[in-house]
Amino acid sequence: MTETRNDTVFGMILRGEIPADIVYEDELAVGFRDIDPQAEVHVLIIPRRRINSLGHAGQEDRDLLGHLLNVCAQVAAQEGIAESGYRVVTNIGRDGGQSVDHLHFHVLGGRSLSWPPG
Ligand code: AMP
Repeated sequence: MTETRNDTVFGMILRGEIPADIVYEDELAVGFRDIDPQAEVHVLIIPRRRINSLGHAGQEDRDLLGHLLNVCAQVAAQEGIAESGYRVVTNIGRDGGQSVDHLHFHVLGGRSLSWPPG
């Protein structure tokens, strides 16, 4: 719903202005390795169209949100962690620990992840 200029670090990656280790691309979404990985596999899945966070998505974004989750599962399989298991996380706002204001899903796996998160 809320969309602003795509001027975050992820916008720069989408425009090819800074490098990223891209592992997935389609017309709606891009997946790339997190620069500061928290697990053996740590990929970020983002929409090409900027939505600031899940909290800024609206009903009209339902198809896109569903697609992004399907891409998370697809990338997990591609990364070889579908069988062992993995976690999909999206941080929202200050208390959620969001540091980049462009919706992204973290796909984390390759080790046993603790719960609850800190
Ligand atoms: P969050 O804290 O949930 O907003 O997640 C933002 C994530 O983006 C963090 O895990 C960062 O390590 C990651 N990140 C920041 N800059 C880059 C970059 N240039 N390339 C890849 N990942 C990045």
